[in-house]
Amino acid sequence: ATPTALLVGTGRGAQLGILIKGPEVLESTRAVDTVVLDKTGTITTGKMSLVDTRVAAGEDETEVLRLAGAVEHASGHPIARAIAGAAAERAGALPAVTEFRTTEGLGVQGVAEGKAVLAGRAALLEERGVTVDDELVKAKEEAEHQGRTAVLVAWDGRARAVLVVADTVKPTSARAVRDLRALGLEPVLLTGDNSAAARAVAAEVGIDEVIAEVLPADKVDVIARLKAQGRVVAMVGDGVNDAAALATADLGLAMGTGTDAAIEAGDLTLVRGDPCAAVDAIRLARRTLATIR
Ligand code: ADP
Ligand code: MG
Repeated sequence: ATPTALLVGTGRGAQLGILIKGPEVLESTRAVDTVVLDKTGTITTGKMSLVDTRVAAGEDETEVLRLAGAVEHASGHPIARAIAGAAAERAGALPAVTEFRTTEGLGVQGVAEGKAVLAGRAALLEERGVTVDDELVKAKEEAEHQGRTAVLVAWDGRARAVLVVADTVKPTSARAVRDLRALGLEPVLLTGDNSAAARAVAAEVGIDEVIAEVLPADKVDVIARLKAQGRVVAMVGDGVNDAAALATADLGLAMGTGTDAAIEAGDLTLVRGDPCAAVDAIRLARRTLATIR
């Protein structure tokens, strides 16, 4: 290989807002045939907001918000920030929380105002023996079919409400998916979120292959499985729950707007946080190598 051409490639990358760890990265980029895109923070902005609150019969919305907000306040998850923020705004000062705990990819728990509060996925409530009334199950399903995330809130063994959280698809995501296909690459959406929400987002941006409800620790296995199928896999993520998957992929592309863990794990950093930069990176690598050969 001609070192000069490689360096020109990396210089052009910097102009496009693509930081390349080393010239050798360009070589692995060339063979990529599958691009796994993390949903939250990559295809979507990851900036969530609370858009609806559906309480079970007899429950008080302000109390639900206050207690759920208090527990979520202790978590750094984007969903948690949305709920805690809205709760502080609408329900006033949030009470103190003890015995806070996160169950990765499922939700949170803690004790507030003497109540053992749970907030998260249905699977978390099930695990703790909490039953969910039909009306809340219906509210949850409705939200999920609209591509939203339903956070169930429970205390003292009873589900009290569904908090509906919405994220927005980035304006350039659909174009990035279209351009990946034009380069002959197969896009795959990967997420810990529920299948219905994942499918709604995938349909909005034009992705057919969806792998949903994957626990953070299992994202690595998904990448390994795709590689075992003989696919050469690039992974685009923001490092929230997916840094190990970025490191496992043949090519890891880190959203520059994401975490330091992502930038460390990735082979390439996309400074702009725009999924179209992933396309630019792959195009640039191919062009640079074509110049060399
Ligand atoms: P993603 O793969 O989209 O980045 P995560 O693995 O972080 O998603 O989370 C998966 C799911 O777990 C979320 O969609 C949500 O339903 C639930 N969850 C995670 N953290 C929390 C939290 N702090 N509060 C409520 N629910 C949560
Ligand atoms: Mg994520």
